[in-house]
Amino acid sequence: MKLLLIAFNQSDADQSGGFIQALGLEADAIILPSQPADAFAASLAEKASGYTHIAAVSSMQSKDAMAYLAGVLDCAMVTDAIGVVSPSSFKRPIFAGSMIATVETEGQVVITFRPSGFAKVDGVAAAAFDTTSPSKAIVTNEAKRGTGRPDLGSAKIVVSGGRPLKTADQFEAVIGGFADSMGAAVGATRAAVDSGIAPNELQVGQTGKVVAPDLYIAAGISGSTQHMAGIKDSKLIVAINTDANAPIFEAADLGLVGDLYQVLPELQNLLKQ
Ligand SMILES: Cc1cc2nc3c(=O)[nH]c(=O)nc-3n(C[C@H](O)[C@H](O)[C@H](O)COP(=O)(O)OP(=O)(O)OC[C@H]3O[C@@H](n4cnc5c(N)ncnc54)[C@H](O)[C@@H]3O)c2cc1C
Repeated sequence: MKLLLIAFNQSDADQSGGFIQALGLEADAIILPSQPADAFAASLAEKASGYTHIAAVSSMQSKDAMAYLAGVLDCAMVTDAIGVVSPSSFKRPIFAGSMIATVETEGQVVITFRPSGFAKVDGVAAAAFDTTSPSKAIVTNEAKRGTGRPDLGSAKIVVSGGRPLKTADQFEAVIGGFADSMGAAVGATRAAVDSGIAPNELQVGQTGKVVAPDLYIAAGISGSTQHMAGIKDSKLIVAINTDANAPIFEAADLGLVGDLYQVLPELQNLLKQ
């Protein structure tokens, strides 16, 4: 049995050590350029057929690309693995993380895993794999966001904002500005993403990224089950909300009842001092 670890960027490779250690198999790792799922699967199918396990960090990109690859290879797929029982048995959350299922696989398997479920171990060196195949997808626009902020999936501190931020500029100034003063990554709720306030790749939760930072600051976030599914492994949750009865306060370690537009700048000033 042998693992092919697929990294879509260096951060994926850096976060994969714990999963590889838990799986306990000999592993090769490759880093791939961004490409549509059909081109990804076509360029990788031949190489992947030589491995029993093909795995990647759970992300918006891997959800799309790895499922396509499993289809092309006609093999089993396990998504969002958070534990390895054996090389053919994996633990994964179901019902928004309220239950953990153990799934058994037979033969070759494609896996996406959440690094937060595994021990922090040094990542792997991934070799570049540059083959790209033609795609039927037409890329009409590509937005690159090189903010220089820490990666959301592996950051030690995450500052997230919700619906009350109202506009993208406000979100960037208030949440982004505060995050920068702490060297933190920025996250958002689905409500913020759906209303165009925050970019899709910042969504945290059941259908977004699952994070497990040392400190998670939730500003103007009600604490829906779907959002909490993405943050419940955070070591310390701080919530800022005008409504003292907001559900987020049930899960928060520290709660501040107040207006984020006042509280965050005040905290930012204190941090500067
Ligand atoms: C299938 C499915 C999947 C989903 N997946 C996700 C997911 O992955 N991630 C996710 O986040 N959501 C997800 N959702 C949506 C989720 O149900 C909630 O609608 C969403 O999380 C709410 O976002 P919010 O907290 O920003 O907004 P709201 O629920 O509207 O909460 C806003 C909060 O801000 C407070 N507030 C208002 N003004 C201020 C102020 N000035 N200062 C401080 N606080 C203020 C309010 O009191 C309120 O508590 C999903 C829903 C479904 C159905």
